[in-house]
Amino acid sequence: MGTTEVINPATGAAFTTVPSLDLAGTDAAIERAQQAFASWRAVAPGDRARLLRRFAQVVEDHLEELAQLEVRNAGHTIGNARWEAGNVRDVLNYYAGAPERLSGRQIPVAGGIDVTFHEPLGVVGIIVPWNFPMPIAGWGFVPALAAGNTVVLKPAELTPLTAIRLGELALEAGLPEHVFQVLPGKGSVVGQRFVTHPAVRKVCFTGSTEVGKSIMAGCADQVKRVTLELGGKSANIVFADADLEAAAAAAPGAVFDNAGQDCCARSRLLVEASVYDKFLALFESSVTKFRVLDPSDEKSDMGPLISSGQRETVTGFVAEADVAFRGDAPTGDGFWFPPTVLLAGSTEDRHWREEIFGPVVSVLPFRDEAEAIRLANDSEYGLSGSIWTRDVGRALRVSRAVETGALSVNSNSSVRYWTPFGGMKQSGLGRELGPDALLSFTDVKNVFISMGA
Ligand code: NAP
Ligand code: MG
Repeated sequence: MGTTEVINPATGAAFTTVPSLDLAGTDAAIERAQQAFASWRAVAPGDRARLLRRFAQVVEDHLEELAQLEVRNAGHTIGNARWEAGNVRDVLNYYAGAPERLSGRQIPVAGGIDVTFHEPLGVVGIIVPWNFPMPIAGWGFVPALAAGNTVVLKPAELTPLTAIRLGELALEAGLPEHVFQVLPGKGSVVGQRFVTHPAVRKVCFTGSTEVGKSIMAGCADQVKRVTLELGGKSANIVFADADLEAAAAAAPGAVFDNAGQDCCARSRLLVEASVYDKFLALFESSVTKFRVLDPSDEKSDMGPLISSGQRETVTGFVAEADVAFRGDAPTGDGFWFPPTVLLAGSTEDRHWREEIFGPVVSVLPFRDEAEAIRLANDSEYGLSGSIWTRDVGRALRVSRAVETGALSVNSNSSVRYWTPFGGMKQSGLGRELGPDALLSFTDVKNVFISMGA
């Protein structure tokens, strides 16, 4: 077992180290999870619910500690980090209602009765990226546990601290040992072992489309269940009949939140040609008001990028593009990058097509509703998006026509723990959160019981 240094992205300085599991350590943890499964699935529904509620309370009791840890490890603004820790608590409370409600069906048959059960799968492996370490962990491990599975979770190498802490808090809340284990280490070692180890019956992966495809291919070998939350290049579509002031005021947050390191980032801004100049002027003034400050500052709207590597990638996209205007960012140590608005020359521009994962938005005008839809759908991705219009009919038509999994109208908010979240096309497979996600951590079993002769 080696170790990994953990770096504060706001300063660039290492401040602690964590273990990095090797193959033998990963196998041992998976085997412990497999052994814990028999007793965890047998915990009475009401008792499992109570344990999850207690876990939620322990997270609530440590909310500020978790948030501060995320500010330091991931450079998230303190406001965001508190929301993220609160999201883990809320997801725990929401799915704590699931064990007693995980009902099957009774289907009419001749000669007996027929019933279905939603059986847990066994050990579930969750692979988490560095952009939202707490929420994405919770969206996987909470419904998995609620449905009666045991969980092994690999945090991203860059951001392991809050996941490790959540693993400790689970034990403090009274979850039995080995039911929820956090395994820090490399994706190519720990994460890959989730794919190949036969005791892991499902993999939930969030991260790049490239790695996601390799995980899906690897899972095919054992017909392993897989949920994928991958990249995005979502469109923010502003029609001329919209409340332009509201759309422009909200547009920076829609793409620069979390320094643009958000799979839902509305990184393509489509503006109806007749209001293009007017909207851009409004947008420029809202971008200059977006405060890029030390993430521990309560007034900070945006912190640094996660790593120097990520900053190099983002810089590469901007270097080859036509910059319209930029906001401010601190200089000096840390992986800072200012909010940046690019003009797309055509839909072939690399910054228009590829996920940048930084505080960069590309703008393009459109002529009419049909062209807006065509441009929005001209992407391999389909995760989120926004539509700004006062015309209800148009809002409905465009909502149905845009090929993405999570849309918002006159709003940019697409994540609520009680509504489904996930992507169409190459943005993913399956849905997290909401009422149905639980079932993706189960298999349906059908049982016929004969009444006899
Ligand atoms: P990534 O390589 O896909 O990493 C995501 C997670 O998968 C990490 O925990 C990583 O572990 C693990 N992993 C990597 N290779 C693996 C493998 N072969 N088998 C199993 N697990 C593996 O993403 P990244 O390199 O950090 O970021 C690259 C780009 O991906 C970003 O610039 C962004 O465009 C996109 N991205 C999207 C999301 C999203 O929310 N959809 C999140 C993050 C990144 P390690 O940390 O050890 O590498
Ligand atoms: Mg990678």
